[in-house]
Amino acid sequence: MSSKRVLIVGGVAGGASCAARLRRLDEQAEIVVFEKGPYPSFANCGLPYYIGDVISDEAKLLVATPELFRSRFNIEVRTEHEVLGLNRGERKIQVKDLRKGSVYEEAYDALVLSPGAVPARPPLPGIDLEGVFTLRTIPDSRAIRAWIQGFQSRNAIVVGGGFIGLEMAENLARRGLKVTIVEMFDQVMPPLDREMAEYVYVHLLKNHVSVHLADAVVRFNGSEGRVTSVETRSGARIQADVVILSVGVKPESQLAKNAGLYLGPHGGIRVDESMRTSDPCIWAVGDVVEVKDAITGELCFVPLAGPANRQGRIAADAICGRPARFRGVQATAVCGVFGLTVAMTGASEKRLLQAKDADYAAVYLHPTDHASYYPGASEMHLKLIFRRSDGLVLGAQAVGEKGVERRIDVISFAIQKGSTVFDLEEAELCYAPQFGMAKDPVNLAGMVAANFFRGDVRLAKWAELPNCGALLVDVREEEEFKRGSIDGAINIPLDQLRQRLRELPRDRLIWVNCARGQRSYYAVRILQQHGFATHNLSGGYNLWEVWYPDGLPASEVAQAEEHSPQKRAA
Ligand code: FAD
Repeated sequence: MSSKRVLIVGGVAGGASCAARLRRLDEQAEIVVFEKGPYPSFANCGLPYYIGDVISDEAKLLVATPELFRSRFNIEVRTEHEVLGLNRGERKIQVKDLRKGSVYEEAYDALVLSPGAVPARPPLPGIDLEGVFTLRTIPDSRAIRAWIQGFQSRNAIVVGGGFIGLEMAENLARRGLKVTIVEMFDQVMPPLDREMAEYVYVHLLKNHVSVHLADAVVRFNGSEGRVTSVETRSGARIQADVVILSVGVKPESQLAKNAGLYLGPHGGIRVDESMRTSDPCIWAVGDVVEVKDAITGELCFVPLAGPANRQGRIAADAICGRPARFRGVQATAVCGVFGLTVAMTGASEKRLLQAKDADYAAVYLHPTDHASYYPGASEMHLKLIFRRSDGLVLGAQAVGEKGVERRIDVISFAIQKGSTVFDLEEAELCYAPQFGMAKDPVNLAGMVAANFFRGDVRLAKWAELPNCGALLVDVREEEEFKRGSIDGAINIPLDQLRQRLRELPRDRLIWVNCARGQRSYYAVRILQQHGFATHNLSGGYNLWEVWYPDGLPASEVAQAEEHSPQKRAA
């Protein structure tokens, strides 16, 4: 039997991993990779750090060269060769040699599409001015570096506060630029729930980054062809000598669309579980595809390196006739910004609400990354989301300086294995004081959630606070309460609670808070056993500051005071 000929479009994350896996499975196959850029297999995730000079040697971004592909894997990589079209009937692709300008055809038995995604460039006035950049390739990052150096840039605007936007903000600040982020949503890091993103927002401000939320750039102004400022919807005019657009990416699916392959609702290529497209001889992987959201089951577009690499392997297995199945994405992701780690996995609360799924609950906690008595412990903020009806873990988000990604990875894997909060409660994780806690944050999250299932505590919903009609009781110490409290709350320190039960109403719901949620849990247990109807404000005052940074509307506070026990007594 003659060997099969596999052609791959795109030679970076998905394409390169597919090619290398194919070779390991089939020594006879002819494998040719077409890459329109100058480099295959480069580290796109490292580009912001090259701009920030954390990685100063550009060569370090090259994970593998065409020579290595040739010598180690017997794979031919043709860089600066762009695939222009597919002829599915004849199983041929049309390729342009970008150096020579010549166009030729190549035949395939199997074709893999991994052309990635393209950064969005909204058609705004002035978008083509010099100094307005997107970031996707090594040449892009080289151009940004040269621009900053050449024009001694001082003021940078980052449009979009997602992963790449935040990484760019940090790296531009590292180069000494004054950075402003303009974000259309009312929060940075849109995949996070808003209250969790508030921790990131505050951290950006502390690090001297200006952040314009719920605002959008409407035009770029320039002089002599170069950008000098941007104007926003709110009327702000912000000086800028360099602008980075990081407003999202779109699947690079034009080739597939022109060839009549099925696309999904987000414009990405539709594939089955083995990454096969609607054409049985064509597979697609990476940022160009739409895959199933492992939690909601909906098709989604999640442009991340991990799924791209795994899908490349799966397509290779399928092409070689092995059983292979991609089980969907959970969008497990991590981002570092000014020493803060932001990580998430699975469903967010807002994603569930969008999917009209109300069968969930969330708990918040603020554990330290390792035993607090051991030097250097730092607090993290963790939100766990689980199914209200059966405790299935649905998602988690965490923000903190240390140990954050480890906890999210554990929870990510728990989600993949269909675990419940009871599994998290019992998970056996490694511990020594400098690394963790005997009750690891993952265990604690499981315990807090499991307490809810056992009926030991009812959970108050932060979103319902303004209209809850409950009496708010803060059980922190008086000194803590004086430093700031939830609007309308009264203070009864936990250690005085048993003696002061008479002050509390038996005909009204009581919502209890402390600083982080632990003392309020103890208080709830006391109150419940004395016959009071109570709910715990999970996450405590710490959460209040991020849920309601501007406090409650004045009318709600007045109403809460009207119902306070002191008022009733008077
Ligand atoms: P790519 O890796 O983009 O490769 C596609 C290649 O196809 C490109 O080189 C392109 O030139 C080539 N191509 C396109 N069309 C054609 C054509 N017609 N003919 C020939 N070649 C073509 N993900 C994470 O998980 N973590 C991170 O920290 C992270 N950081 C990132 C930082 C930046 C700045 C960027 C840009 C991305 C980052 N990502 C990160 C996303 C991650 O890089 C992508 O999800 C991943 O590279 C997708 O792999 P892919 O193979 O689908 O596409």
